[in-house]
Formats: sequence, C-alpha cells, structure tokens
Amino acid sequence: MNMSKRIVGLTGGGSDGWDVFYKARKMVDDGVAVTELTIGEHDIRTDQSILDAMHRSASGGHTGYAMVPGTDSLRDAVAARLTARTGVHTTRNNVLITPGGQSALFASHHAVCDEGDVALYCDPYYATYPGTLRSVGAVPRAVPCLPENAFQPAFADIAAKSSGAKSLLVNSPNNPTGVVYTRETVEGIARACREYDMWCISDEVYDTQVWEGTHISPRTLEGMAERTLVVGSMSKSHAMTGSRVGWIVGPKDVIANLITLATHTTYGVPGYIQDAAVFALGEGLALEEKVGAPFRRRRAIGQAILAEQNVVGLVPSSGAMYMMLDMRATELTGEGFAEKLLDTHKIAVMPGESFGSSAAGHVRVAMTVDDDAFATALKTIVDFAKEIQP
Ligand code: PMP
Repeated sequence: MNMSKRIVGLTGGGSDGWDVFYKARKMVDDGVAVTELTIGEHDIRTDQSILDAMHRSASGGHTGYAMVPGTDSLRDAVAARLTARTGVHTTRNNVLITPGGQSALFASHHAVCDEGDVALYCDPYYATYPGTLRSVGAVPRAVPCLPENAFQPAFADIAAKSSGAKSLLVNSPNNPTGVVYTRETVEGIARACREYDMWCISDEVYDTQVWEGTHISPRTLEGMAERTLVVGSMSKSHAMTGSRVGWIVGPKDVIANLITLATHTTYGVPGYIQDAAVFALGEGLALEEKVGAPFRRRRAIGQAILAEQNVVGLVPSSGAMYMMLDMRATELTGEGFAEKLLDTHKIAVMPGESFGSSAAGHVRVAMTVDDDAFATALKTIVDFAKEIQP
C-alpha cells in the first residue's frame, strides 16, 4: 500500500544531519562517558512548585477533556503576558493553547498556507522547520542568513526570496545561532512582510532567554499585528519540555479557525498541564530567571574562554541556550570537526550543517551540562581546534 506523498516526502530526503547526535547516543548506551552538548534541553527538571500545582489540579479532578481553545485562565495569562511585554493589546480571543511550540508551528502554517504555497524560513534554522512546512503542503524556500551579517536576516536577503511567497518564518532569540535580532532586522522583517504581503510566523519560544539586547516581537511593529502569528511555549522558559504546552497568538479570526483545526486534530491540552502553566506564569520573572540562570552563567564562562584565543570564532551570543562556534580556521566542515571531536575527546556537538548550508563550518554547542563540565568541554574544543588547524 502506498502512503501519502506528503508523509513519505516530509524530510525532503537526504541525510538529516543528525549522524553525530545518533552516534553519541549510541556511545552513551554502550556505557561510554560522553559530554553531550547536542539537544536543547535543560539539565534541570521542571521546578517542584510547578509539579505541585500540576498534582493539585489533577487530584482536584482536572483530568477530563479540557476546553479545546485552552482554559480561560491560561488564555488570559498568556494574553496578559503578551500585553505586558509587547504593549500590543491581547485578549484570550487572540490565543490558542497548543501541545507545545512544535504543534503551534504546524498549525500556524496550516492556517496561512495552501497546498503548493511558498513558505520562507531563515537558514540556519531549527531542525524541524522545512519538514513542518512540507507537512502542510507548502513549499519551503530558504532565506540564507550569512555569518558575515552575524546570521541576522537582512531586508535585502528576505526580499530576494519573497516574490510569490505566502509566509515568512522567523526565530529570535535564535536556535541554532544564539543571535537576538536587532531592531533593524525586525524592521526589515516587517517591511518585507508588508511589501510582499506575507504572513509572519514569529517563533518566540526563547523570548525569556535574552542575555544581551532586547527581544522585539515583529507583532509590535506597524501593520504587523494583523499578519503575525506568534508561537510561544513553556518548554524553554520554564523547563517544561515534556509537558507539551505552548500557544499561538494572532488575529481573532485566525485563532477562531485554528480552534476548529484543534477540534479536529489535538482536541486540546490536558487541563492539569494548563493549570500548572498558569501557576508557572503567575510566578513571573523570578522563576523565568531561575530557569535561565545556568545558561546566562555558562555563556559568560564560554565567552571568557573564547576571548583568550583566535582560532575558534564565536557568533555574537545574545540569547537562547546555545553558542555557535565558527570552526572554519580548522578548514574542516562543521560535520568533520564534530565527528573528530566525538571520536577523540568524547564531546558531542551539533554540526552547523544540520541547520542549513549557511552555518557550514560552524558547530552549535548547547549549554546544557554543569558549569565545570561546560568549561572543560569548551577548553578542550579550543585546544583541539588549535592542534588540528593547518
Ligand atoms: N522552536 C524552536 C526554535 C525550538 O528550538 C524548539 C524546541 N527545541 C521548538 C520551537 C519547539 O519546542 P516545543 O515544542 O517543546 O515547545
């Protein structure tokens, strides 16, 4: 029996660039001590206070079907958060609660792209993006963001790819680069969306992890609220990756249609998870800072180590839980360096090529091991690069 072309073709064929990751996992399974700096997951677990709130809700009976759009209290909490942080008046009618940011990315594109529509995304990109765009029948088209522009998507780069495109997917703070878009970049994004009549899908799941600069949502710019869908999540901000709770914020009519989509797909998010999210958001900045503190600390540790040498370059690190290292002085590809590093020093990093061709010759380091192990790993990476550079 033939499966649909849509599902068989989801990854677009070819290697997914995750070979080093799988190899490292296999080594760990075989009992080898590997320092894993690969995936974006905290080394702390969900805060006990959030788990207590989850437990109170579940034992209090909130285990049945929850309202499909999300509970009123969580939609209100998300709306209040967005209003407070962006100044754009937002109500629960602008909010759909989703099972995580990933499903929000899928639903957002489902809402704005028809079969065969061109959907833009910025390269380097979060690994699932092209597949997510294909899964709704859209045709992914990359906007190369170059290392010489610190991986910021410039207006001219976007405009060069915008003809006939229906949507533009942007992500700041950025995974994999750790870059926070500047005001000029966000203004360029808004201008391109207005001039080429595109929807903007703004992936803001790292919005609480800003180490330098300011997070500016494209939704705040003139003429953008009616054409922007903001994707948010509790995964990164509150170390709730396994709870699968996120949201889409956008125009009311889009949200109304997305609720219909949710009725026919996810049928909502568990009520006790949503109650835990309401609790967590209610704890405000203090809890977000507690969750983000290890990354802020390790970024400073990493910057100090990298400042003492000039073989390994550091892409301006301003946000999220990653550092992007420029390994081009070794004359190896990111993949080549990552493989040698794993084989020689049992340190696993992600090749830049896993995130698109613009990040070739780079590796992404997740700041997700304790401070000492992180410092040791970075020093080893630097020493190894010095040793093997031609
Ligand atoms: N967007 C980006 C940029 C991410 O890095 C991730 C997770 N790594 C997601 C979206 C999805 O996160 P979640 O589904 O856990 O909310």
